[in-house]
Formats: sequence, C-alpha cells, structure tokens
Amino acid sequence: MSKQLNLVVDMYGCPNRCKHCWLGHMPNIQMKSTDDKFIMNYFSPYFSSITYYSWLREPDFCDDYIQRWERDKQISTGPKPQRFELASFYRLVRDPLYVKFLKSVGVKKVQLTFFGLEKLTDFYVGRPNAYKELLHATQILIENEITPRWQAFINEENKSEVVELLSIFKELKHKTKCEDFSFFVHAGSCDGENRKLYNIRIEKQNIPAVLIPYYLDYGQLLTEQQCYERLKEDSTYVEFHNEKEITLNISNTFDVYFNFTHMRPIWKIGNLKTDEPKELISKIINEDTKALRLAKTITIKELVLKYSNKESQKVFFLEDYKQYLFNLYLENYKEL
Ligand code: SF4
Repeated sequence: MSKQLNLVVDMYGCPNRCKHCWLGHMPNIQMKSTDDKFIMNYFSPYFSSITYYSWLREPDFCDDYIQRWERDKQISTGPKPQRFELASFYRLVRDPLYVKFLKSVGVKKVQLTFFGLEKLTDFYVGRPNAYKELLHATQILIENEITPRWQAFINEENKSEVVELLSIFKELKHKTKCEDFSFFVHAGSCDGENRKLYNIRIEKQNIPAVLIPYYLDYGQLLTEQQCYERLKEDSTYVEFHNEKEITLNISNTFDVYFNFTHMRPIWKIGNLKTDEPKELISKIINEDTKALRLAKTITIKELVLKYSNKESQKVFFLEDYKQYLFNLYLENYKEL
C-alpha cells in the first residue's frame, strides 16, 4: 500500500495514570526489545513506508532511551519518527543527561500538563510529587534553553486552582525572562479516562474570565445545549477516517487500534500474535472494526435524541461531542 503507516507501540508503558488520559489506562508490561522486529516484519510486506515509534504513552520511559531513539530511526522504512514537543518530565528530573539528549535531537519546546496546584495535580496525574516535578522540569528546560509550554486541564473541581496556576505561570515567565514560555487551558476530549469526568466537566459560564484569553480555540467552544441544537437535524453518521496516513496504536499485548479514540475492545482491529496478517491488513485498509461498522448504523440525529442532555452547559468542541455521543452509544450497545 502506498499510504504512509505510523506504528505507535506501547513498548515500555507510562509512570503516570492521568485522569484525563484519552487512551485509557493500561498496565505497564515491558515488551521484549526484539518485538519491534516482529512488528515491522508483520507490516513490511504490505506497506513500503513505515515510521516506528517505541512509545505510545510516555516518551523515553526506558532507561536506554538514546539507543531506543536510534533504533526507532534505524528500523523505520519511511520518514524518521518525530518528537511532537513531548518529553518525559519523570525522566527530566531524575536523569541529568536527558535534557542534553533532548537538545541533541533538536527539541525546542516541551509541553507539561497541570491540573491545578500541588494536591490536585498529584491527584489527577496519579502519583505524589508530580506537581513539584513539573515545576522542577520547567526550570531544567529553561536553563537549557528549551521552551516549556504549560497546558492545564480544567473542570468544575479545579477551575479556581487553574486561575492560581496562571498567576504562577506569569510570575515564573517574568522571573525567568523566557519570552516564548506559554500557557493554555482546555477541557480535553470526552473519551478514555476523561469520559469518567463528564459529571465535573466545566460549564461554559463557569470558565473564569481571566482564563478565556488562554482557552484553546475559545471561539469554537460550544455548550452541550448548543451542540444539541446544531446536530438535532443531522442525518449523517459520525465519521472516523484515515486520510493520507494510517496511524496504528499497538498495545503491549499486541492488540491493534486506529488512533481515532480510546483503546477499548470494541475498537480493536485485531491482534498481531493471533491474527493472520492478510486478514488484519484487510481490516485496516477497509477500516473494518466492530465500532466502525456500528458507526454506519446510527445517525447523529438519533445519537443526539438518545444521549444529549439538552439543558447542559458543559463545554465541547462539535467534533469531540459527536465522538462522545457515539462512544456513549457503544457503552450501552448490546448484541441482539
Ligand atoms: S495522558 Fe500521557 S502521561 Fe498521562 S497516563 Fe496517559 S499516556 Fe501517561
């Protein structure tokens, strides 16, 4: 196939258990270093251009991250893997050589994620000291001339702490004279773990005014009620589709998913250890999973009538809202 294939493999896991994680929580199981060869061999007869990533969750979470980066580049048969302005803050504060590595591979900016101040950030990241580590990682990045970008996930529980976090950001930016150091806020999509936070999803009128200039694409932000109004006559279907590239998320148990939404069984394409390559590749090309088949059986209008709360002022972007409704349908779906 001439389409570019990106394989994103959870070879090492993640030290965090963020309550907004769109992939959904999975156990950390370290895969064998030779599994990369097996995975590449599985796809190579069918795709001429493959980019291989050995991390799906925390980048550089393995101790030999330098060799691993080299290996990912070496086994990729298509464009070399990218860094995406991501790094491991866990490693940044534990390994003094790591920031040098980031510089050597050309990282200019790193995103760090907060959920308010210390107690709430530790709670939402899922481990103690996360907040302190994020502040420390910020310092390390600035000292090494890599620009930090803070993102804050906001909900009804943490909204006033996000305001306090903005003050801390401003102070730090002033103190460090790091011109490009930036800050943005959003509520995240409503799949994976974040779906479980629907009840405390922020209502639009409760977003503190001081945060509005920092809110991601605020002009396109709708309330659930507005989403309902826009979609209640929509007789099309929720669409999930690969364009020029196909990106596959591969779990540490060799399950394969498109990167459309969370990694739940109904979205699974197949398993690299148990499925014949021809069969699995055909499902990839034809975009054939149980969830995708079901997506063609229920219109957006029907989803809205079944699941929307038309009084709700909780915030959504329209496309995220369609996905949220469809995942809700799948949660309630029962075989006849
Ligand atoms: S959001 Fe990222 S860092 Fe947090 S648990 Fe998920 S993969 Fe790990």
